Amino acid sequence: MQIINPATGEMIRTVETDDAVSVREKFAAARAAQPAWAARPVAERVALAKTFGELLKRDIEIIARDMSLETGKPLQQARNEVNGSLNKVRFFCEETAAALAPAKVRQDGNTEEVLGFDPLGVVLNISAWNYPILVGFNVFLPALLCGNAVIYKPSEFSTLTGLHLTRLLHEAGVPEDVFVAVTGEAAVGAQLLQLPFDCVGFTGSYSTGKKISEALAGRMTRLIMELGGKDPLYVTDECGDLDAVADAVAEGVLYNNGQSCCAVERVYVHEKIYDVFAGKLKAKMQAWVTGDPLAATTMCGAITRRVHLKFLQAQVNDAVSKGARLELGGQVQEGRGNFYPPTLLLNANHSMEVMREETFGPLIGVMKVKDDAEAVALMNDSEYGLTSSVYCKNAERGKKILAQVNTGTGYLNCCDRVSAWLPWSGRGHSGLGSTLSRLGIHAFCHAKGWHIRS
Ligand code: NAD
Repeated sequence: MQIINPATGEMIRTVETDDAVSVREKFAAARAAQPAWAARPVAERVALAKTFGELLKRDIEIIARDMSLETGKPLQQARNEVNGSLNKVRFFCEETAAALAPAKVRQDGNTEEVLGFDPLGVVLNISAWNYPILVGFNVFLPALLCGNAVIYKPSEFSTLTGLHLTRLLHEAGVPEDVFVAVTGEAAVGAQLLQLPFDCVGFTGSYSTGKKISEALAGRMTRLIMELGGKDPLYVTDECGDLDAVADAVAEGVLYNNGQSCCAVERVYVHEKIYDVFAGKLKAKMQAWVTGDPLAATTMCGAITRRVHLKFLQAQVNDAVSKGARLELGGQVQEGRGNFYPPTLLLNANHSMEVMREETFGPLIGVMKVKDDAEAVALMNDSEYGLTSSVYCKNAERGKKILAQVNTGTGYLNCCDRVSAWLPWSGRGHSGLGSTLSRLGIHAFCHAKGWHIRS
């Protein structure tokens, strides 16, 4: 498989890919190795994860550069991702032992009722490229710490990063058959799904998630899915400093080139402040410099998948043809590399694809609303349900709005953020189950009820 640099179109390297035979062999080895891994005290597994965190720090520059080269992510944002991932290592190291400890929940006469947790067995993690470290950690770190073996297929667009993580886990002391990387594209993912995994933890698009759930139908395999989003953000007429809000919204739209599952994907603005806010948002978005991902001044790098440029252009063309006003950007950048400039569409509405289908790029539609009820109705008018955000200095009003929006995460006066201490869970087409938080540790365990009579 060729690894292509999306900023130049040049080949970085080739890597060997797996096939039906090698994935079967790797699965068998992981199955055989898992019981001994599960038998080790959780404190030992936690110690290995801590060492892994130290190795990540040691290799941050190499990892960040490779990630930037293969995904087009600005180098500083790649470093930020490595640093941010250390928080996840910390969370899982601090929480796993307590989360897995058997808990006496009740004494009923002479019967003790105890809640216990067992590992699932062998977990398959099929992963995405946009935050290759952060999204991988949601699945494979808790899965390993709970005593599962893991077969990990990084995305074909972030294979170098995935292989580096694999080497570091092994260097930290995780046995090679307990954490096993599989490389390849969709066809290799489909081959993996033929094998009798105990759990599939998938991060990726709704369309692939749907294929995976269809492939597993009837097999009773635990399925945890982190899928796409069409995350709404509402700026109320009590949002406070408009400049600061515009700054935050521009970052929510453009960070990681907009290729974030929780990127701001559609914006609603109260009619009292619409015109002023739109002007400020345009100015803030204009300041995001697009260019060479390795350059220190670059804020928007390359779009990772070349085919996506056409998709972005189609969303812009569709919106303009239906009456949106193109205020900024809106044209694929000519020349080598996959570049699309920050793009702002005003006067958007829900007849336009840009307000309905995940964009996953540096482009945003903005729509005027007359009140909170209209904003809530529009925010809920989506198949997706990952995050929603409200800017409102009146906290009671802001919370009341967020409580009515059907998403797994609500942000008041902030956006586009993830915390390992809180569950990450999408509703509707945004996913299935929860990762992160204690829920995301228990996601990789079987619960067991013990009735112990003396
Ligand atoms: P994708 O669905 O194209 O690919 C994801 C993975 O699935 C890749 O490893 C790919 O090789 C594999 N795959 C593709 N077809 C397959 C098949 N038929 N069978 C088995 N495996 C298959 O997604 P992507 O482009 O890598 O990632 C972008 C998407 O991921 C966006 O929709 C984004 O919102 C979503 N995402 C969600 C979260 C979240 O936490 N909710 C986080 C990151 C990304």
